[in-house]
Amino acid sequence: MGERFRERLRIVAPALLRLALVGAAALIVGYFLGDRVGLWFALIGFGAALAFHLFYLSALGAWLARPSLETVPEGVGTWATVFSRLYKSRRASELNERRLADNEARFRRTISALPEGLVLVDAQLQIEWCNPVAERHFGIRLSADAGLRLTNLVRDPVFVAYFTSAAFDAPLTFKPLANPGLVLSVQVIEFEPQRMIVLTRDVTQSERVDAMRRDFIANVSHELRTPLTVISGFLETLLEGAPPLDETRVHHLRLMYEQAQRMNRLVGDLLMLSRLESQEQPPADETVDIVQLVHEIADEARVLSGGRHRILVDCAQLSVRGSREELRSAFSNLVSNAIRYTPDGGRISLRWRATSAGAAFEVEDTGIGIAPEHIPRLTERFYRVDKSRSRETGGTGLGLAIVKHVLARHQGQLVIESAVGRGSTFAAHLPRERIIEGAESQLRAA
Ligand code: ADP
Repeated sequence: MGERFRERLRIVAPALLRLALVGAAALIVGYFLGDRVGLWFALIGFGAALAFHLFYLSALGAWLARPSLETVPEGVGTWATVFSRLYKSRRASELNERRLADNEARFRRTISALPEGLVLVDAQLQIEWCNPVAERHFGIRLSADAGLRLTNLVRDPVFVAYFTSAAFDAPLTFKPLANPGLVLSVQVIEFEPQRMIVLTRDVTQSERVDAMRRDFIANVSHELRTPLTVISGFLETLLEGAPPLDETRVHHLRLMYEQAQRMNRLVGDLLMLSRLESQEQPPADETVDIVQLVHEIADEARVLSGGRHRILVDCAQLSVRGSREELRSAFSNLVSNAIRYTPDGGRISLRWRATSAGAAFEVEDTGIGIAPEHIPRLTERFYRVDKSRSRETGGTGLGLAIVKHVLARHQGQLVIESAVGRGSTFAAHLPRERIIEGAESQLRAA
């Protein structure tokens, strides 16, 4: 006999005993008072037992329809056991429910106390829950706005575009229209297939400090520009002037002139970087003829190379919507790097081609190459693999930082592939939205 069966038997034992007693009493009554009376006695006895069980069964059914700890029925015999068990299990589950509710309330209180805003949204961006900080940041009210789309309530174009693009790798920094003076950093965490957490952080203060740093660099660079121009100008005059100077003086003047030129380039790059960083509005929306631009850059590269390298150009007829000035600066930085880091006799190929995601400007060289550990850091300001080589060749250490910024402003990215001693390929990828298709590609080598 299984344990379960025995358990069941134990529960119904009082009822079975009562039925057996009724049966035995009916037999005795039948024996003494005749079969008919015994039969009636049995009928009435079993009927009463049936009515007894039906009564408690109906009580159980009614209770199950609206179960609550206070209203668990009381019973006799078998039903006493059943109802006391019901009471115990109901009490355990009510305790569990209360503990769960307490936990949830504590969890919400904890989240509410966070300095960060938190909005829970579903796949349609409909608000499920948010904490008071998020209410303040976005200017929303959970009681009124639950179930509404977050992007219908926070209508700032950059915010809406961020969610439309669904590219949540980098956080979005923006100034909400509903909250003037506030700068918010928004991060999206997709934690379930159908749900996301939108985290908001008040970065007003750090943005202000950052803006001060940018302004300071821009102002210093600007102030340095005039004295530098004067110094370079006079050095040039001295170098070219009569009477002829002795060789040592000429050498010193030339060194001074070269260093002044280097400072000029540094100041120019610093100004360019701070301009790129501080401009909030997207880059200009000109149609940039990249084929023409690449050929212009290639012509300059030939001058810079002075015939020491073979420079090849291969362009697809694709134009770009963006800022010509910024793209020119980015592309020519890549090309001048290729020349500066490729020994004489090397080959440099400039390619402008369509890719699966849009188009890319690639600069491939047969230069010194870069060890893998340096590649992720190359776009940091002043990061150089070999400081002295960079300086000797007239580098400022800011070229790739400018490239990265320009591409980010055009929703593009820089991809670097390199092998030490064999060469590098720097590819500036631009997204399809910015590409305007043209005629077939053409090849021009020189
Ligand atoms: P720099 O003015 O020093 O060239 P960049 O920001 O343009 O500054 O480049 C950063 C560093 O990346 C360089 O110092 C150099 O070490 C490395 N680098 C850039 N381009 C190349 C290249 N084509 N081949 C090898 N190394 C490169």
